[in-house]
Amino acid sequence: MVKIPVGILGATGMVGQRFVTLLKNHPWFTVACVAASAKSAGKYYKEAVENRWVMKEKIPDEIARLSVCAVENDMNRIAKQVSFVFSALDMEKETIKVIENNFASRDIPVISNNSAHRWTEDVPMIIPEINANHLSIISAQQKHHGWKKGFIVVKPNCSIQSYVPLLTPLMQFQPKKIAVTTLQAVSGAGKTLASWPEMQENVIPYIGGEEEKSEKEPMKIWGKVENGTIKIAKEQEISATCIRVPVNDGHMASVFVSFAKKPTREQILAAWKSFDPLKNLDLPSAPHPFITVFEEDNRPQTHLDRDLGNGMGISVGRLREDKIFDYKFIGLSHNTIRGAAGGAVLTAELLKAKGFIK
Ligand code: NAP
Repeated sequence: MVKIPVGILGATGMVGQRFVTLLKNHPWFTVACVAASAKSAGKYYKEAVENRWVMKEKIPDEIARLSVCAVENDMNRIAKQVSFVFSALDMEKETIKVIENNFASRDIPVISNNSAHRWTEDVPMIIPEINANHLSIISAQQKHHGWKKGFIVVKPNCSIQSYVPLLTPLMQFQPKKIAVTTLQAVSGAGKTLASWPEMQENVIPYIGGEEEKSEKEPMKIWGKVENGTIKIAKEQEISATCIRVPVNDGHMASVFVSFAKKPTREQILAAWKSFDPLKNLDLPSAPHPFITVFEEDNRPQTHLDRDLGNGMGISVGRLREDKIFDYKFIGLSHNTIRGAAGGAVLTAELLKAKGFIK
């Protein structure tokens, strides 16, 4: 099978590096182009990430020797080399919107990790297991802009991946009020414990902008497609507190939930264990099971469980009844794999399986 050539915008950053490692030996995609700021442009990738490569795996040889393009100045050159791009840029939001639109207008689909386009009406925000049906608005997006093959699809924030996948299988019981506290790893800020000494022996009870995203983004994901846009869900209400904790990778969430139709404990466990909507699509990065349920009181644990399903699996444990809400439980996901680059790669696989990427 001839592999589809892809580009990574922001390839030198934390999420970009994760794309590089995840796409090594990918059965469908091959990295044909790496792009970053003017500061990195013109260097070999290996030189551009010197002293800031933070992945455990070494830089793949075939990527190490690629020459880094400049995202803004080399758009035509990048567009000629690739069939679609992953965007992992960290820049001013309006500039990112312009860049992503520019690639789409050049017939290059964009799968973005950035929040710039998350609230653009006709841009779907995808967790492949949950709202693959939202891809149907791509044709309205293309029509609106006059784009032929290009389009933009975004991924949601990493924080929500530790509880939205766990609440979704429970929709049949109509969750109403949800209180969530996330315990988020330092890599979510593009850092490591080594590069952020203030985080050692420390917990910071605030992450700028994160609580708003954690409360709002699930409502778009749970929304319904209507007339080429997504009608935001109104049936649930989320109150979120987001806290930075001293671990390198892995976001944990403590979740309290009340339902209109309170399920039994057995119904919740059965709903989680059987939830695997991508089971029949044979996507290379899709984890099976999607959700791993622990009965032990001391699981999931960040260190033991964040890498389940190669970092794409969601784990859950400590399900118990609550005196104020109906139930409470603990969720866990890997923030830079499921929550960032891995989630985007899975979205690209879904787009290929559905014929949007060729
Ligand atoms: P990062 O480590 O700071 O990397 C930023 C990337 O953007 C670098 O490749 C950088 O290139 C490039 N860049 C910066 N300014 C540029 C410019 N003017 N022109 C072209 N490229 C430019 O950030 P990150 O943690 O990887 O995050 C990337 C994006 O993913 C952000 O939007 C972030 O919010 C989102 N995200 C992150 C996580 C996570 O867990 N870290 C999770 C979900 C989403 P140079 O190296 O050349 O400066």
